[in-house]
Amino acid sequence: PKYVYEFAEGNKDLKDLLGGKGANLAEMTNLGLPVPPGFTITTEACRHYLEHGTMPPGLDAEIEEKLAALEAKMGKRLGQPDDPLLVSVRSGAKFSMPGMMETVLNIGLNDDSVKGLAAQSGNERFAWDSYRRLIQMFGKTVLGIDGELFEEAIDVLKAGKGVTSDLDLNADDLAGLVETFKDIVREETGAEFPTDPREQMRLAIEAVFQSWNAPRAVLYRRQERIPGGLGTAVNICSMVFGNLGMDSGTGVAFTRDPATGQQGVYGDYLQNAQGEDVVAGIRNTVPLSELERIDPKSYAELLSIMEKLETHYRDLCDIEFTIERGKLWMLQTRVGKRTAAAAFRIANQLVDQGLITLEEAVGRVTGDQLAQLMFPRFDEKAERDRLGRGMNASPGAAVGRAVFDSYTAIKWSRSGEAVILCRRETNPDDLEGMIAARGILTSRGGKTSHAAVVARGMGKTCVCGAEELDIDTKNRRMVAADGRVVEEGDVISIDGTTGEVFLGEVPVVASPVVRYFEGELDPDSAEADELVRAVHRFMQYADAARRMDVRANADTPEDAARARRMGAQGIGLCRTEHMFLGDRRTLVERLILADTDKEREEALAALLPLQREDFTGIFEAMDGLPVTVRLLDPPLHEFLPDITELSVRVAVAEARGEEHEGDLRLLQAVHRLHEQNPMLGLRGVRLGLVVPGLFTMQVRAIAEAAAERIRQGGRPRPEIMIPLVGTVQELEIIRDEAVQVMREVGEAHGVELDFPIGTMIELPRAALTAGQIAESAEFFSFGTNDLTQTTWGFSRDDVEASFFSNYLEKGVFGVSPFESLDVDGVGRLVRIAAEEGRATRPGLKLGVCGEHGGDPASVHFFHEVGLDYVSCSPFRVPVARLEAGRAAA
Ligand code: ADP
Ligand code: MG
Ligand code: MG
Repeated sequence: PKYVYEFAEGNKDLKDLLGGKGANLAEMTNLGLPVPPGFTITTEACRHYLEHGTMPPGLDAEIEEKLAALEAKMGKRLGQPDDPLLVSVRSGAKFSMPGMMETVLNIGLNDDSVKGLAAQSGNERFAWDSYRRLIQMFGKTVLGIDGELFEEAIDVLKAGKGVTSDLDLNADDLAGLVETFKDIVREETGAEFPTDPREQMRLAIEAVFQSWNAPRAVLYRRQERIPGGLGTAVNICSMVFGNLGMDSGTGVAFTRDPATGQQGVYGDYLQNAQGEDVVAGIRNTVPLSELERIDPKSYAELLSIMEKLETHYRDLCDIEFTIERGKLWMLQTRVGKRTAAAAFRIANQLVDQGLITLEEAVGRVTGDQLAQLMFPRFDEKAERDRLGRGMNASPGAAVGRAVFDSYTAIKWSRSGEAVILCRRETNPDDLEGMIAARGILTSRGGKTSHAAVVARGMGKTCVCGAEELDIDTKNRRMVAADGRVVEEGDVISIDGTTGEVFLGEVPVVASPVVRYFEGELDPDSAEADELVRAVHRFMQYADAARRMDVRANADTPEDAARARRMGAQGIGLCRTEHMFLGDRRTLVERLILADTDKEREEALAALLPLQREDFTGIFEAMDGLPVTVRLLDPPLHEFLPDITELSVRVAVAEARGEEHEGDLRLLQAVHRLHEQNPMLGLRGVRLGLVVPGLFTMQVRAIAEAAAERIRQGGRPRPEIMIPLVGTVQELEIIRDEAVQVMREVGEAHGVELDFPIGTMIELPRAALTAGQIAESAEFFSFGTNDLTQTTWGFSRDDVEASFFSNYLEKGVFGVSPFESLDVDGVGRLVRIAAEEGRATRPGLKLGVCGEHGGDPASVHFFHEVGLDYVSCSPFRVPVARLEAGRAAA
């Protein structure tokens, strides 16, 4: 295969092969934009290297050939002593992993070529600065030396001279620093810093390959669900220099605000600086708009390039650029990350501008983003004690205790504390702490800083660059401009939407998007902003496009009503177990303890009117829409007192000689009902078969409630659902009884009652014999929570806390199968059951009522296998509506 592509040979669609950075450098080159020439080594070469530990055969020759061509084009050789070509060796995977992998700049410098560079540029300071940067970056990333050692050496030098900025170091200082750095390399590795330019390049390429598997990169991929086997491409790019003086500099820019979606010029610029200086927060950057004053010509060119890029990519782009002595160079672009709110606003604006269709727009916003917009926010009317303000890097409202290092963030959050991680700036080593924190606050760095970029990616609240706050990590405290002090453990609130930081806990209120879904905010009113209008527009499109219905899981009239407001087209799962708790416990105890038919019938008769009332309220709230009622599912012991508590009570009573006949009988019942594996025990349909009259009482309650509603002019549409069926025989028995009860009730009330009776598919056997079960079932509802448990053979309550983190870490699965449906295993059962069920009974109604019904990826799968509806919690209903629409579009 061909392993090396010149920039001009690629294009933006080759991300798999060239990585995102390489593909877009190629695209920009072919658009005629000023990109420094170079070439890209493919991800395929990286995969070979990672698998075999060696470069693939032929790669070296190909690199040499492309390098020679580059040298010819530039008219100088790599590291040529009197006039060196210098290059950067840059990582760049298919998916952007900001700051996770390595890049080395200024490859080609050594003791000879540094002099050539000085002579050619007429700037000795610049040449030595570039050289020391090379040794520093190369030492850290290629040779694995602790970066602190270099930083310390710089600090010592500055302190000795009594200066604070690296700009105050002159050429001689930097030449001395180069010697110090070389000493560090010798001491740390036992070898000299490699001076052969081609060897430098080769070693850097290998280091970039290896950085794919650096721990922080592995962690980031897991977080972002990026597959681990892709590998990174390597870009060799001829150097341009932003550190040649004040007429040079480096910057980053966005074509729109990635936090809000607002159109305008956003970015940061730093004069006389190279590469990472902008994002590292070493010196304070200026807003991009300042560039208009500093260098109007480059500014104008940059704006026109940004416009060109946005029209070409038809989306928000982010950009890295460098100005070398008044000449603008483009070093990177990509379709930029953005917050959820920005995603909706930008997609909406692009439709208005005619750049994309409404269908494309809906394809670009996700259910996960919509879910983020539904988070609560700070109450603007509440009393708030403002400590200071930074930049609104990633929206949301976070309240927690201030902590000043990642270790404490992790430790405290494990013990259940909400924490806000406060750092001067973050780096990839802080990743775990950032994951653990509710929010992130930094005092340095702009919207493109590490903290900002990573937090946005995680959907986590972040305020960055709050310079008014002096964050003192050594002493674990933070001092506001007015002198007030926040110690470790003090509660603060940060608003990622406005950038404000408050002392204490600020109360939160519902988001306008939720108010819109609840019907409290009219999208056409003046109060509704662009975000609500965009959500409304996209929801309308999705609702029209989707084939699947969306129902909600709701057990009470209140939840049912709320679900309906959120757009639910029925209830897919109405659980009845909670109806047996509280005051009714004693009635259930009576039922369980009944010795005679008479006692049992009395207990059931007492439960009947209460059950009937429950259903009346729900049918009323859902009038005209289907309500799937699941008959009692959990094991009976769940309704009895705790065994230890009860044993103690009995023992105490016995010792005191007090009356304890009742408790004793209860205790015997608890022992009788005790099971080693309740999940696999006497529950679901098995209860209905073993406890006479239980299910018929429930069916009677449903039928009577429905008859009553009909008499009042309502349109109740109950569907009776039998849980945990494993074989058609179980269902047939319950079904015959249920049909009988419905007929009786119907005759008594003078109405026709003929409600569908169906089953849950939540055991592998049920899925595998779905063809038989469909003979008796009028509908299937996939209970994917139980189906996942029974397919994998693990109990959710136990395994999530015990070994799931280990499994996720080891990559056994990328995401918990309880969160996102395991398509290969559980999904296969769903597919089989759907096909064979419909083969028996064409038009068999199919739905899903597990939590997967509100998970975006799973919704797409359910659409694809032809289910009629998904059912999820009321709050997820809009998410499922949007995703069902996206799946069908
Ligand atoms: P990352 O992927 O982490 O952003 P990059 O490969 O983009 O890393 O490089 C790190 C920094 O160095 C960026 O600021 C980039 O613009 C700069 N840089 C990379 N290559 C060159 C080059 N050839 N000339 C000048 N600056 C460069
Ligand atoms: Mg970059
Ligand atoms: Mg179940």
